[in-house]
Amino acid sequence: MCGIVGYIGNKEKKEILLDGLQELEYRGYDSAGIAIIEDKKLHHFKAIGKLQNLREKTKDYTSNGFGISIGHTRWATHGKPTKLNAHPHFGAYSYVVHNGIIENYQELKKELQSDGVTFLSQTDTEVIVHQFEKNLKTAKNSFEAFEKTVDELEGAYAILLVTKEERESIFFAKNGSPMLVG
Ligand code: GLU
Repeated sequence: MCGIVGYIGNKEKKEILLDGLQELEYRGYDSAGIAIIEDKKLHHFKAIGKLQNLREKTKDYTSNGFGISIGHTRWATHGKPTKLNAHPHFGAYSYVVHNGIIENYQELKKELQSDGVTFLSQTDTEVIVHQFEKNLKTAKNSFEAFEKTVDELEGAYAILLVTKEERESIFFAKNGSPMLVG
């Protein structure tokens, strides 16, 4: 089981994400990562092992001003516990974190690959972000693209997605996994 945390606002985002993930540590994990979009800039950091390793990696970074942010502790189900397989997974301008399993990921992945998408990880999760960016090409807006993407997923999941195209929102969806919004 993993943990996911998201935050939108002006406060320093890195600390909020790391503290939030720490609260969820008891669930167990093998790697962790965070992504922050602020002022049109995308930042992400990943580390295998304990959250302390991620704290270490991010020690020279501080978020600045308003932004959107997501974080994840991973318990690998698809792909080894490596840095590349750690979440967040990214496309050209969006990030996703995910708890659970996407049952139909192979089918979606094949189709995306035949469209020319390159996958960096072995996870089931990575299809979500590429599928979202694919859907955004024809959707009216990011919300519609996210909704379509979620409709195409099978399995149990809690998902957070952020995109440079919509810099004041975190898109979320859940099916079977718990999620709290505050
Ligand atoms: N199935 C995803 C993966 O292997 C998410 C696992 C989790 O819930 O941490 O990366």
